[in-house]
Amino acid sequence: MLLFQKSFFNNRLKKIIDSCCNNNKKEITTTDIILAPSLNNTTLEQQQYDHSVPPEWYELDREVRIQLCYYLSWENLMKWEDFDIFMISKLCNGKPLLFVGWAILASPHSQYLMEKETMKNNNNKNKKGYNFLETYNISSKCMIDFLRGIEDRYRVDNPYHNNIHAADVLQSTHAFLVMGSADKRKRLLPSLLQLFSILVSAVIHDVGHPGYNNTFQSNSLSPTSLLYNDTSVLENHHISLAFRMILGTEGNSDWNIFKGMDPDDFVTCRKLITEAILHTDMALHFTKLDEIKKLPSQNNNDTTDECNNDDDDDNEDTAAYSWKVIKFLMHMADISNLAKRKSISIQWTDRVLTEFFRQGDKEKELGLPVSPLCDRNTTSPSKSQVGFIDSIVRPSLQVLQRHLPSITTIILPLLEINYKHWEEKELLSSKKTSKKRTITVAIGREKETSLEVDNNIVVSRAA
Ligand SMILES: [Zn+2]
Repeated sequence: MLLFQKSFFNNRLKKIIDSCCNNNKKEITTTDIILAPSLNNTTLEQQQYDHSVPPEWYELDREVRIQLCYYLSWENLMKWEDFDIFMISKLCNGKPLLFVGWAILASPHSQYLMEKETMKNNNNKNKKGYNFLETYNISSKCMIDFLRGIEDRYRVDNPYHNNIHAADVLQSTHAFLVMGSADKRKRLLPSLLQLFSILVSAVIHDVGHPGYNNTFQSNSLSPTSLLYNDTSVLENHHISLAFRMILGTEGNSDWNIFKGMDPDDFVTCRKLITEAILHTDMALHFTKLDEIKKLPSQNNNDTTDECNNDDDDDNEDTAAYSWKVIKFLMHMADISNLAKRKSISIQWTDRVLTEFFRQGDKEKELGLPVSPLCDRNTTSPSKSQVGFIDSIVRPSLQVLQRHLPSITTIILPLLEINYKHWEEKELLSSKKTSKKRTITVAIGREKETSLEVDNNIVVSRAA
C-alpha cells in the first residue's frame, strides 16, 4: 500500500503509450483519459478503424450540426450545471441517446470527427476520449447500431422513463467519472473495463420501461412481475431485454458491441453491467448507501518512488473500491434530477409526476391500490421534492463527498437551490402545523415502504 505510487504511475503511463501505439487492451483508467498523451491527428487518421458518423447526423441542418459539435464536445460533456439535455435532445431531432452515446462511447473518434466538421482544430493535439472502439474491437457502425437500437426500445411516450432520461443518466455518469479522475487527492481509478461497463449500463439501464413502476407490476400481476417473482422486476427486465437484443440469437447481431471482446472480458463486463443495473433498484438504496458509508476513503497521499511488491494487491483493492463507488455514482446519476440546474430540474419533476399520475389513473381504473405520489388529487409536488431531497438525495451526496470531493462544490449547491425553491413553494401552499404529518416522497420514484425519518415526518418510499 505504501510505496508504489510513482512506480505505479510510471508503469501505467507506459501502458497508456503502449495502448496508443500497440492497441494494448486493458489498463487504462479514468485518470489516464485525462492525463493521457492524446492521439494526434496523424495517428487518428492512420488507424485502421472506420470513423463513421451516425447517418442521422447528415439529416440535421449544417447549422445544427455546428451547434452540436460544441454541445457534444468533450469539454461540454463533462459539465454538470451547464449541460442541457432537453435542448440537446431537440437539436438531435429526438435522438439524444444516439448522439450523446456516440460522442462519449466512440470517443476520441467522435470528438475528432466533430472537430473536423467545424474545421476548428485540425491539429487535434489534445483530443481526449475512452478509446473503447479500439480496445474492444468495436466498429463505429456496430456502436452506432447498438445505440440506435437501444434508443428505439425506450418508449418516447413515457414522460420520464424515456430516451432523454437514458441520455441524461449516461452524461451525468460520465461527468461524475471525469470529476473523479480530476481529483488527484482520491484514488478513484476504475479500470477501462469498469468504465466501459458502467457507461454501457447507463445507456441500457431503463430500456423497455413500460412507464409503470415495480409496485404496479407486482400489484397488477404483470407477466414481467411473474417472470421475476416480484424481485427487482423492471431492473431484471431491462438487463435481460438489453442482452437479448445485443447478443441476438447467436451472438452475432449487428448491435453486438461485445463480439470482438476477449471472452474473459465479456464475462466480467456482463457481470458488472448486471450488477450496476440491479443496483439502480431503489429498494436497495439504503443497503447500498450503508456499504458506501462503511467504505474507507482512499487518498493519493503516497508519493514515494520506491518499489512496492504489493502493487498487484493494491491495484486489486483500488479496482474493487473504484467499482463500488462508480456503481453508486451511476445510481446517483439516475436520481440526480434535483441536483441539476433549477430550470432543468423543474422539467424533470414535471415529467416524473406526469408519469406517476398517469400510473395512478391506471391504478384507479384497474381497482388497484394507488401508489404513493401517484394520486393527482392528493399529491403535493413541492412536498414530495422536499421529502426526496431530505431523505434520499442530500444524505447520499453527503456520503459520496468523501469519495468525490467535487460534489461539495459542484453539485450540493445546486441541490440546495432546488430545495429552497420547493420549500418556498411548500410554505406558500400549506400552513405549517406542529401536528404529526405524513409526507410521501418518491424514492427512485417507484415502490413503497414506510420509513420513520424523524418524529414529525414519515416518508413512504418507492423503489
Ligand atoms: Zn433510470
